Amino acid sequence: FFLQYIVSTPIGNLEDVTLRALRVLRTASLVLAEDTRHTRQLFSRYDIHTRLESFHQHNERQKEAMVLRQLQQGAAIALVCDAGTPAINDPGADLVAAAAAANVRVIPVPGPSAVLAAVVASGLPTQQFLYCGFTAPKAGARQKQLSKLAGQEATLVFYVSPHSLLAALEDAVQVLGAHRRCCLARELTKRHEELWRGSLGEALAEFSERGPRGEFVLLIEGSGSAAAVQGEAVSEDQIVEALRQAVAAGQSPS
Ligand code: SAM
Repeated sequence: FFLQYIVSTPIGNLEDVTLRALRVLRTASLVLAEDTRHTRQLFSRYDIHTRLESFHQHNERQKEAMVLRQLQQGAAIALVCDAGTPAINDPGADLVAAAAAANVRVIPVPGPSAVLAAVVASGLPTQQFLYCGFTAPKAGARQKQLSKLAGQEATLVFYVSPHSLLAALEDAVQVLGAHRRCCLARELTKRHEELWRGSLGEALAEFSERGPRGEFVLLIEGSGSAAAVQGEAVSEDQIVEALRQAVAAGQSPS
């Protein structure tokens, strides 16, 4: 009976950690951390002294065998990342797959993740959302990524680094149109937390002017949502055409 815990930790505010997460971190034989210095801050806040070892994208593969061996010898190992939930755009997915293949019991200890916090506070439909990971770093790949998602009805959720935010918004305006509603969830749970809401075009204007700072989640309404359908139903071209026809027919446009 071997145990591996996937433990969510705060995405900013150190109070966002569950009682269970603290107990598991305190009683585990070993905690694997993306950056041990970062996790030490959480440990010192909660007086946790469990042994920490680094586990990040550059040593993930090479540590896998050692971790599985220790698990099979009866160790209870917990995996954390710098912020939020491991394996969500952070190391962990390969280790979980290897553990599952070796019949190691994998136990999630749920808690913060930027994706869910952003979705629930965005004001966009939450019934269906599609987590798309980071926006692609290069323009060509990013436009292709967005084109593939253009017909998607679910709310789209992207992680985006501050230095690529403006380029990502430009591409989104170009590929999805300036009218789609969006939300920029910035610095969630931190002192400068902000939920900025508006259209993609407005977001581009606003963040070009003030300069993007902090950590961002970009949420864009899906193509089938009420506002998008309305936006599509009365595109500018259609309004111009309606006016032209009304003038031609000698009516005053309504
Ligand atoms: N595993 C993490 C999770 O569960 O959310 C995500 C890690 S990923 C490497 C880091 C990205 O997550 C950031 O670039 C940003 O897009 C998003 N993020 C993390 N913390 C955030 C916060 N406090 N506010 C807004 N976005 C955040």
